[in-house]
Amino acid sequence: MKEKISVGILGATGSVGQKFIELLSNHPWFEISEIAASDKSAGKKYKDATTWNMTNLLPNRIAEMIVKSCLPNLNSKIIFSALDSSVAGKIEENFAKNGYIVISNSKNHRFDKDVPLIIPEVNSEHLELIRSQNFGEGAIVTNPNCSTIGLAIALKPIHDNFGLEQVNVITMQAISGAGYPGIPSMDIQDNVIPYISGEEEKMQLEPLKILGEIYEDGIKDTDIQISAQCNRVPVIDGHLECVQMKLKKKCTKEDIIKVWREFKGEPQKLNLPFAPEKPIYYFEEERFPQPKLHRNVDKGMAVSIGRLRECSLFDFKFVIISHNTIRGAAGGTILIAELMKAKGYY
Ligand code: NAP
Repeated sequence: MKEKISVGILGATGSVGQKFIELLSNHPWFEISEIAASDKSAGKKYKDATTWNMTNLLPNRIAEMIVKSCLPNLNSKIIFSALDSSVAGKIEENFAKNGYIVISNSKNHRFDKDVPLIIPEVNSEHLELIRSQNFGEGAIVTNPNCSTIGLAIALKPIHDNFGLEQVNVITMQAISGAGYPGIPSMDIQDNVIPYISGEEEKMQLEPLKILGEIYEDGIKDTDIQISAQCNRVPVIDGHLECVQMKLKKKCTKEDIIKVWREFKGEPQKLNLPFAPEKPIYYFEEERFPQPKLHRNVDKGMAVSIGRLRECSLFDFKFVIISHNTIRGAAGGTILIAELMKAKGYY
């Protein structure tokens, strides 16, 4: 690409916003031109408006940038949104109405009939939905919930090959998933919190739309029954999920590992910059996968799976790890923007 594409970030001061800045600082296609957040931050230099929490140094160019308000007067046509969901709905709509392409991490528009809920390796064809939106040149595309993404990537090749009937999932989710400053240390140290507001509902519903089929009048959800229980645990990054599944077709453990290992999607075929070489890594070691060891596999964009075994209640059970702010948020959203560019949506 001769000239980089200017992008803006809404909610740039938060946990996901910082991850966008870290991941986009050397991106071959995109350049951060504008950053925006709440009125409390607007008008300040970025370095004074945020508490930088990433392990890479804050780039000087961004540190000195003045934070803007979330108003649709930005120069960049491509907008990444990492806004708090209490405000994301209206702000994102306002941007789309004014001709911006908004790719969002917030829950607000995920179930709008004409808004695609995209995991590039899983349902890139759902992007066609934006053609039925009434935003003129603008559009809204959403990235699923961080725990849903790991689960849906793991389930996609299984659903395609053997058919899923029932899925039971229990999560152990990292504290960075609660934003910054997040959960008080007195609450999470030496503890597990067996409740994350709204999370179980998202995990039970989002995969049905993601794995659904697109028709002229929208998406027809798939018919898997999913039950989820979500827990917050004292891990910084990386959501772990213990999954049990009942299949429609008989198969062996080896059949499942084979379809996971062979799984590839559009991002791999198109060789997109943020695409992991392989979306799924299967580990044979019994004590793997673990958040500390596997959250960053293949740039933090791959899903690590292990411990596939027969289940006495369902057919099989296994364990997933995926990085919640990379694959599950900023990285996944950047991959959507790359896919949309490669497919000519802007
Ligand atoms: P966060 O750390 O709390 O950041 C929220 C951002 O929203 C901040 O930049 C904040 O700006 C901005 N904001 C708050 N009120 C605003 C207002 N009235 N007007 C404009 N901007 C406002 O949250 P986060 O964890 O980054 O999450 C951001 C979004 O991504 C949420 O919708 C979340 O559900 C979703 N998500 C998060 C994760 C994760 O792992 N953390 C994963 C997937 C999806 P100020 O600093 O100026 O207040």
